[in-house]
Amino acid sequence: MKSVSVVKIGSLKDPDEEKRGRIEVLDVPMQPLGDEDVRIKVAYCSICGSDPHLVEGIFGWEPPFGLGHELSGVIVELGSKATQKGLKVGDRVAGNFLRFCGTCYYCQNGQQQFCESAGEAKNLGMSEYIVWHESQVYKLPDNVSLKEGCLLEPVSIAVRCMDKVEMKLGQRVAICGGGPIGLLVLQGIKMMGATYLTLIEPVAARRELALKYGAENVIAPQSQSVVEEAMRITGNRGYDVVIECSGSIHAVEALPEITARGGKLIYAAMYPNEYEMPLNLYNAFFSKEITITGMYVAPYAYPRAMQIMPRMKLEDFTAAVYSMDRAQEAFEAHISAMHPKVLIKCNDFPGE
Ligand SMILES: [Zn+2]
Ligand SMILES: [Zn+2]
Repeated sequence: MKSVSVVKIGSLKDPDEEKRGRIEVLDVPMQPLGDEDVRIKVAYCSICGSDPHLVEGIFGWEPPFGLGHELSGVIVELGSKATQKGLKVGDRVAGNFLRFCGTCYYCQNGQQQFCESAGEAKNLGMSEYIVWHESQVYKLPDNVSLKEGCLLEPVSIAVRCMDKVEMKLGQRVAICGGGPIGLLVLQGIKMMGATYLTLIEPVAARRELALKYGAENVIAPQSQSVVEEAMRITGNRGYDVVIECSGSIHAVEALPEITARGGKLIYAAMYPNEYEMPLNLYNAFFSKEITITGMYVAPYAYPRAMQIMPRMKLEDFTAAVYSMDRAQEAFEAHISAMHPKVLIKCNDFPGE
């Protein structure tokens, strides 16, 4: 089967073509189908913010290896014991690229994100077919298209973020970073009753989308002082909830300062693993008693993500679609930030 794969590690932005990371469509063997597994004919797979990092080699994997974990498709084959959820051949589905075992200490302690035998993530979303365990697969509602369906995983991250926020109706909220996660979180937090809702984001088109989805204020950090603007907007109180979705080390340091007394600051993105952020402990904890936390993947969020998806505005997220053969171009479009999300079409389903 055809699969979009990394064939050369390197930055996609490298001006030297020799050194640039390269993606190609390779012919790879079909995965075997276990008794409890589901084979999915992939329709769409969206590019995740983490995918270009894989091309850059952050995990040290040896190429060639496959890409993609945010996918939708149609079931073509079921193992004999994949019967727990009533899934059928022909069902339109999406799912969780992580398989949690359900048996280890963490799974049984309400912390499946730390599952000791998860990590069996096969990055084959940008392929013609993928095999997942039945527990990873969710049937899409009729009013969610296959194009939208591949966004189930990023939507689940937004749901998980709401779980971490535990906010109260009417609290002041700022989101830093208007990439796909930031914009989905913004839609979610709007539903939760946020006030003074503010997006901090350097790209103008993303600030526009935030206003369209209900942000009341935007801050352009390249031309405005984030702290001054935040204090002006909130009458010098700061935000009760601040959610960092950019992953940018240039954005993270100012956020304790714009968090209100007793407020909560969530670092919800993925950060360079050697970066250390200075933090004034006196200001953050003695003067203001702020709570700082983070998050990793989306435990217990998928059923709710599935229910909230049809209520989110996703059309801007599904506008840029590339064929598998144009994957390199799709990745370049993704890193240029000209679209909120870029999709790879892996099979043709007429009408979808
Ligand atoms: Zn993702
Ligand atoms: Zn487990």
